[in-house]
Amino acid sequence: MRVSVFGATGSIGESTFDLLSRRDDITTVALTGGRNIVRLAEQARALRAELAVTAHPDCLDDLRAALAGSGVAAAAGTKALIEAAARPADWVMSAIVGAAGLAPGFRALAQGATLALANKESLVTAGPLLMAEAARHGARILPVDSEHSAVFQALAGEDLAAVERVIITASGGPFRTWTPEQLRRATLAQAQVHPSWSMGQRITIDSASLFNKALELIETREFFGFAPEQIEALVHPQSIIHALVGFRDGALMAHLGVPDMRHAIGYALNWPERRALPLQRLDLAALGQLSFEPPDPDRFPALRLAREVMRIGGHAGAAFNAAKETALDAFIGGQIGFLDMAHLVEATLDALLTDTALTAPVQSLETVQAMDQISRQTARALARQLDFAGH
Ligand code: NDP
Repeated sequence: MRVSVFGATGSIGESTFDLLSRRDDITTVALTGGRNIVRLAEQARALRAELAVTAHPDCLDDLRAALAGSGVAAAAGTKALIEAAARPADWVMSAIVGAAGLAPGFRALAQGATLALANKESLVTAGPLLMAEAARHGARILPVDSEHSAVFQALAGEDLAAVERVIITASGGPFRTWTPEQLRRATLAQAQVHPSWSMGQRITIDSASLFNKALELIETREFFGFAPEQIEALVHPQSIIHALVGFRDGALMAHLGVPDMRHAIGYALNWPERRALPLQRLDLAALGQLSFEPPDPDRFPALRLAREVMRIGGHAGAAFNAAKETALDAFIGGQIGFLDMAHLVEATLDALLTDTALTAPVQSLETVQAMDQISRQTARALARQLDFAGH
């Protein structure tokens, strides 16, 4: 099987690398990364990749030097990422973080590859486009987000018409029990420690604000096509149940497992087979109990905003994600406080409501990217205007 990994140096990329390293029936076509050139070159040498690509042209000399004598070709930049996605491969991991992951995954679909989709932003910003492109080229998208992989597995062999509801779980993040006043003062250091999952910095902070769960509600809608009212989020601090599917006969099918992304990645890699994976097995007796609670929409407004995005449709997902990424940058940069992120995203969506492009149906990558840019500019302007001094 010919395999490429986009975002190979990240958290999902490393878990994918771990699984690929254990196989002897894999040919690695392309590995891509950002600024972690040392690691990208190590992976490319270990997997004997044909090509390694960094997203940053200023890193190309370092990449070439790190790959000297290895036989692995080096390239850099956005165009090189797209060209790498066009190289024939059977299975492509989409694990670049953020909206930058959309275009390479989209291009991989055009060659009929199976796209293992960790980059949830692709479905949030351009769901209809991505699903139509896959259908047009006979390509398959397999969800790698743990909740969506769990729903996909719970639905195997089932009639979609018999599904009443889908429940995706959320750990609740490090601030699950915090008061609004504590949340207002939450620091970057506190927000980037996740209680149950080990993930990249950005998704970890999104988990603390529940923006990650907001993206996942939209992702569920776009991937499976369920109505927004059928999709629920449930706080489950142990992160053992990843999702549940409720059927019209009252049955609720849950997917359980240790919080280790190699399960969802391995499932997508081996699908439709189930092969052995090097994961710790769940000991329910040792766990003793699992707990659940409803998410609090007042302390965590991201889920309410996701519902608004699903109601608006069109390019609202692209606007929402870009505003969220801008707000996250501002929080990481110390310009705004933790709670200001949701305020800024909401203010950006409100400001864009008068723009007819927001509600226009998603038709091309270009319209999605244009909305992404407008939303980032609007969010940056609002961040300057709004009074976030009190954070
Ligand atoms: P990381 O931040 O750990 O890794 C991101 C990867 O993308 C790195 O390889 C990074 O390169 C690369 N990258 C960053 N910016 C760019 C860019 N502008 N262009 C091209 N490449 C870039 O992220 P995660 O692995 O945590 O997450 C990846 C995706 O998977 C996200 O969409 C996330 O929501 C999703 N996901 C992650 C989960 C997890 O457990 N981590 C679970 C479910 C979904 P470098 O580091 O070399 O700079």
